[in-house]
Amino acid sequence: MTSPRASDIAARVEAFVRETVFPYERDTRRTAHGPLDAMVMEMREQARAAGVLTPHILSDGDHLSQRETATVLIRSGLSPLGPLACNTAAPDEGNMYLIGKVGSTRQKADFLAKLVAGRARSAFLMTEPAAEGGAGSDPSMMQTIARPDGNHWVIDGRKAFITGFDGAQVGIVMANTGTREKMAATMFLVDLPDPAIRLDRVLDTIDSSMAGGHSVLSIENLRVSSDQILGEVHEGFKYAQIRLSPARLSHCMRWLGACIRAQEIATDYVCRRHAFGKLLIDHEGVGFQLADNLIDLKQAELMIDWCAGVLDTGSLGTVESSMTKVAVSDALFRVADRCVQVMGGTGVSGDTIVEQVFREIRAFRIYDGPTEVHKWSLAKKIKRDHLNGKTR
Ligand SMILES: Cc1cc2nc3c(=O)[nH]c(=O)nc-3n(C[C@H](O)[C@H](O)[C@H](O)COP(=O)(O)OP(=O)(O)OC[C@H]3O[C@@H](n4cnc5c(N)ncnc54)[C@H](O)[C@@H]3O)c2cc1C
Repeated sequence: MTSPRASDIAARVEAFVRETVFPYERDTRRTAHGPLDAMVMEMREQARAAGVLTPHILSDGDHLSQRETATVLIRSGLSPLGPLACNTAAPDEGNMYLIGKVGSTRQKADFLAKLVAGRARSAFLMTEPAAEGGAGSDPSMMQTIARPDGNHWVIDGRKAFITGFDGAQVGIVMANTGTREKMAATMFLVDLPDPAIRLDRVLDTIDSSMAGGHSVLSIENLRVSSDQILGEVHEGFKYAQIRLSPARLSHCMRWLGACIRAQEIATDYVCRRHAFGKLLIDHEGVGFQLADNLIDLKQAELMIDWCAGVLDTGSLGTVESSMTKVAVSDALFRVADRCVQVMGGTGVSGDTIVEQVFREIRAFRIYDGPTEVHKWSLAKKIKRDHLNGKTR
């Protein structure tokens, strides 16, 4: 269920993405890692003119409810470029949400305003290189350390898979402000670029929709004043929870939009293409795959709506967003895979966005918590509830 205001915004976003953003899918201003900023900013100017830039945050600063956000973000996801054009993309969308919830008035003026205006991009620096034993699935393995120094903190460490770092102007750095034995995480807001954060390399990854790609970084002697702490010191994991549920849900929204589009493209293909004397859609083996897609897409939409409703009650929704992330990412992966399959060779070619959607969803099954980590934490809850005599 959504509201009339969200339906109106969503309709305008969908019209903009279909009419203005789809043609950019053929634009060559991109690297293997993602679209170039010149193209992103050009699309944003058009979104601004069409009144659909940052559409989930209203002009008075109010954020749409999660259910309303779903209506809008699904539409912005109809193209892999749509979220960047409309400023609903990760990691900016999650970072804006977090700064809006936890940031001070000054931090909102210094860091949030330019993100909401779509004039800057941001990065969230939590994960560390696996080869060095750093934080990944288990954030408590964090090796990046922040030491107090008067009214400042000095941060040292390494980070990996940092989406959008290359070209970002705002960073949220997560560091250990406790001890090696008793870890406590704190988030710091930093202006980027900063000479104390070196971009070592942009990783070659399976996906290619995020501006700036995903970077490996070295942080050496980064001095940050105490008023750049986001929220309170030592509360970083608490804030990570505030960011994580809505952020992982918004990935579900955007990628649902992309898979709705992949299904449209696959449907068009099989309703035109013949084999063995009839249209592909009339072969049961093809028609059933698109029917399964329809079912998976609807189930994904319902899971998102259910979880959004839980978040709208003010709950952290940790359990519900884990369930939804697993169910939706796995369902959308099946959808994207079937779209590729029924389109034959065309499905794996760059002639349509279907192959890209397939690659993007594969990565989505890892970030914001791999499927197994969510299931593992759900299993712990099942055990806990059982031992406490809770049946549901
Ligand atoms: C495209 C992309 C973008 C990303 N963007 C960002 C970003 O902007 N900022 C950021 O900080 N991080 C980012 N990440 C990092 C992402 O959050 C991590 O990749 C993720 O948390 C997993 O950590 P890891 O890669 O170190 O995997 P590992 O921790 O090495 O885990 C490997 C695998 O082990 C299994 N596993 C782990 N724990 C368990 C368990 N308890 N039970 C069962 N199986 C388990 C899972 O299958 C998991 O996939 C991004 C990752 C990708 C792929």
